[in-house]
Amino acid sequence: MYCPFCAAEDTKVIDSRLVADGVQVRRRRECLSCHERFTTYETAELVMPRIIKQNGNREPFDEEKLRAGFQRALEKRPVSVESIESVISQIKHSLRATGEREINSRVLGELVMDSLKQLDQVAYVRFASVYRSFQDIAEFRDAIERLEAEPRRPVDSDA
Ligand SMILES: [Zn+2]
Repeated sequence: MYCPFCAAEDTKVIDSRLVADGVQVRRRRECLSCHERFTTYETAELVMPRIIKQNGNREPFDEEKLRAGFQRALEKRPVSVESIESVISQIKHSLRATGEREINSRVLGELVMDSLKQLDQVAYVRFASVYRSFQDIAEFRDAIERLEAEPRRPVDSDA
Protein backbone atom coordinates (compact mmCIF):
# COMPACT_ATOMS: atom_id res chain seq x y z
CA MET A 1 0.00 0.00 0.00
CA TYR A 2 1.00 3.63 -0.50
CA CYS A 3 2.69 5.54 2.29
CA PRO A 4 0.03 7.75 3.95
CA PHE A 5 2.67 10.46 4.52
CA CYS A 6 4.35 10.84 1.14
CA ALA A 7 2.34 8.46 -1.07
CA ALA A 8 5.44 6.54 -2.08
CA GLU A 9 4.64 3.05 -3.35
CA ASP A 10 7.22 1.06 -1.45
CA THR A 11 6.75 0.32 2.21
CA LYS A 12 8.18 -2.57 4.14
CA VAL A 13 6.65 -4.57 6.96
CA ILE A 14 8.85 -4.31 10.03
CA ASP A 15 6.60 -6.18 12.43
CA SER A 16 3.55 -8.40 12.02
CA ARG A 17 1.49 -9.93 14.77
CA LEU A 18 -1.91 -11.45 15.42
CA VAL A 19 -4.19 -9.34 17.57
CA ALA A 20 -7.81 -9.51 18.81
CA ASP A 21 -7.56 -13.25 19.51
CA GLY A 22 -6.14 -13.94 16.10
CA VAL A 23 -8.91 -12.39 14.01
CA GLN A 24 -6.75 -9.42 13.08
CA VAL A 25 -3.21 -9.00 11.79
CA ARG A 26 -1.47 -5.86 12.92
CA ARG A 27 1.41 -4.76 10.69
CA ARG A 28 3.94 -2.10 11.45
CA ARG A 29 5.23 -0.63 8.22
CA GLU A 30 7.97 1.74 7.27
CA CYS A 31 8.09 3.89 4.18
CA LEU A 32 11.22 3.33 2.12
CA SER A 33 11.19 6.98 0.93
CA CYS A 34 10.35 9.15 3.95
CA HIS A 35 10.98 6.50 6.63
CA GLU A 36 7.77 7.36 8.47
CA ARG A 37 6.18 4.43 10.25
CA PHE A 38 2.52 3.51 10.34
CA THR A 39 0.28 0.63 11.33
CA THR A 40 -2.24 -1.35 9.32
CA TYR A 41 -4.84 -3.82 10.53
CA GLU A 42 -6.11 -6.62 8.38
CA THR A 43 -9.32 -8.54 9.06
CA ALA A 44 -11.39 -10.90 6.98
CA GLU A 45 -14.54 -9.26 5.67
CA LEU A 46 -17.41 -11.47 6.72
CA VAL A 47 -20.33 -9.18 6.14
CA MET A 48 -23.41 -10.61 4.56
CA PRO A 49 -24.19 -9.17 1.15
CA ARG A 50 -27.24 -6.96 0.85
CA ILE A 51 -30.19 -8.36 -1.05
CA ILE A 52 -31.37 -6.66 -4.23
CA LYS A 53 -35.13 -7.02 -4.44
CA GLN A 54 -37.00 -7.42 -7.72
CA ASN A 55 -38.04 -3.76 -7.62
CA GLY A 56 -34.38 -2.75 -7.26
CA ASN A 57 -34.57 -1.87 -3.56
CA ARG A 58 -31.71 -3.09 -1.38
CA GLU A 59 -32.29 -4.56 2.01
CA PRO A 60 -30.06 -6.22 4.59
CA PHE A 61 -29.99 -10.00 4.69
CA ASP A 62 -32.51 -10.99 7.35
CA GLU A 63 -31.77 -14.33 8.99
CA GLU A 64 -35.00 -14.26 11.01
CA LYS A 65 -37.05 -13.80 7.88
CA LEU A 66 -35.25 -16.71 6.25
CA ARG A 67 -35.86 -18.92 9.30
CA ALA A 68 -39.54 -17.93 9.37
CA GLY A 69 -39.78 -18.80 5.67
CA PHE A 70 -38.36 -22.26 6.24
CA GLN A 71 -40.61 -22.84 9.23
CA ARG A 72 -43.63 -21.84 7.19
CA ALA A 73 -42.66 -24.06 4.25
CA LEU A 74 -41.92 -26.97 6.60
CA GLU A 75 -44.96 -26.64 8.82
CA LYS A 76 -46.22 -30.07 9.89
CA ARG A 77 -43.41 -31.77 7.98
CA PRO A 78 -41.04 -34.28 9.61
CA VAL A 79 -37.99 -31.99 9.58
CA SER A 80 -35.98 -31.22 12.71
CA VAL A 81 -35.05 -27.77 13.96
CA GLU A 82 -31.39 -28.85 13.72
CA SER A 83 -31.77 -29.60 10.02
CA ILE A 84 -33.31 -26.18 9.43
CA GLU A 85 -30.51 -24.47 11.36
CA SER A 86 -27.99 -26.46 9.37
CA VAL A 87 -29.31 -25.31 5.97
CA ILE A 88 -29.55 -21.72 7.24
CA SER A 89 -25.87 -21.77 8.12
CA GLN A 90 -25.08 -23.36 4.75
CA ILE A 91 -26.98 -20.55 3.01
CA LYS A 92 -25.16 -17.89 5.03
CA HIS A 93 -21.88 -19.54 4.17
CA SER A 94 -22.76 -19.59 0.46
CA LEU A 95 -23.77 -15.92 0.52
CA ARG A 96 -20.54 -14.88 2.22
CA ALA A 97 -18.52 -17.08 -0.10
CA THR A 98 -19.77 -15.08 -3.09
CA GLY A 99 -17.62 -12.19 -1.81
CA GLU A 100 -20.22 -9.83 -3.24
CA ARG A 101 -21.55 -6.81 -1.39
CA GLU A 102 -24.94 -7.15 -3.04
CA ILE A 103 -26.66 -10.16 -4.50
CA ASN A 104 -29.88 -10.57 -6.38
CA SER A 105 -32.79 -11.94 -4.36
CA ARG A 106 -33.11 -14.61 -7.06
CA VAL A 107 -29.76 -16.07 -5.95
CA LEU A 108 -31.06 -16.35 -2.40
CA GLY A 109 -34.32 -17.82 -3.69
CA GLU A 110 -32.45 -20.55 -5.55
CA LEU A 111 -30.38 -21.37 -2.45
CA VAL A 112 -33.60 -21.70 -0.46
CA MET A 113 -35.07 -23.96 -3.13
CA ASP A 114 -32.00 -26.20 -3.13
CA SER A 115 -32.09 -26.45 0.65
CA LEU A 116 -35.77 -27.29 0.72
CA LYS A 117 -35.19 -29.95 -1.88
CA GLN A 118 -32.64 -31.57 0.46
CA LEU A 119 -34.86 -31.23 3.51
CA ASP A 120 -38.28 -32.24 2.32
CA GLN A 121 -39.59 -32.80 -1.16
CA VAL A 122 -43.21 -32.08 -0.32
CA ALA A 123 -42.25 -28.69 1.12
CA TYR A 124 -40.05 -28.08 -1.89
CA VAL A 125 -42.84 -28.63 -4.36
CA ARG A 126 -45.20 -26.51 -2.26
CA PHE A 127 -42.71 -23.66 -2.16
CA ALA A 128 -41.59 -24.03 -5.76
CA SER A 129 -45.14 -23.84 -7.07
CA VAL A 130 -45.49 -20.41 -5.48
CA TYR A 131 -41.95 -19.19 -6.03
CA ARG A 132 -41.69 -20.16 -9.65
CA SER A 133 -45.40 -19.45 -10.13
CA PHE A 134 -45.90 -22.38 -12.43
CA GLN A 135 -47.83 -21.40 -15.49
CA ASP A 136 -49.79 -24.59 -15.79
CA ILE A 137 -50.16 -28.10 -14.47
CA ALA A 138 -47.66 -29.51 -17.02
CA GLU A 139 -44.90 -27.31 -15.66
CA PHE A 140 -45.76 -28.44 -12.15
CA ARG A 141 -45.66 -32.08 -13.22
CA ASP A 142 -42.30 -31.58 -14.91
CA ALA A 143 -40.85 -30.22 -11.68
CA ILE A 144 -42.09 -33.25 -9.76
CA GLU A 145 -40.76 -35.66 -12.36
CA ARG A 146 -37.38 -33.98 -12.26
CA LEU A 147 -37.40 -34.35 -8.49
CA GLU A 148 -38.19 -38.05 -8.66
CA ALA A 149 -35.33 -38.58 -11.08
CA GLU A 150 -32.84 -36.91 -8.72
CA PRO A 151 -31.15 -38.81 -5.91
CA ARG A 152 -31.70 -37.27 -2.48
CA ARG A 153 -28.68 -35.60 -1.00
CA PRO A 154 -28.17 -36.12 2.71
CA VAL A 155 -28.10 -33.01 4.90
CA ASP A 156 -24.86 -32.59 6.80
CA SER A 157 -26.13 -31.76 10.27
CA ASP A 158 -22.90 -30.36 11.66
CA ALA A 159 -22.03 -28.06 8.79
ZN1 LIG B 1 6.62 8.00 2.92
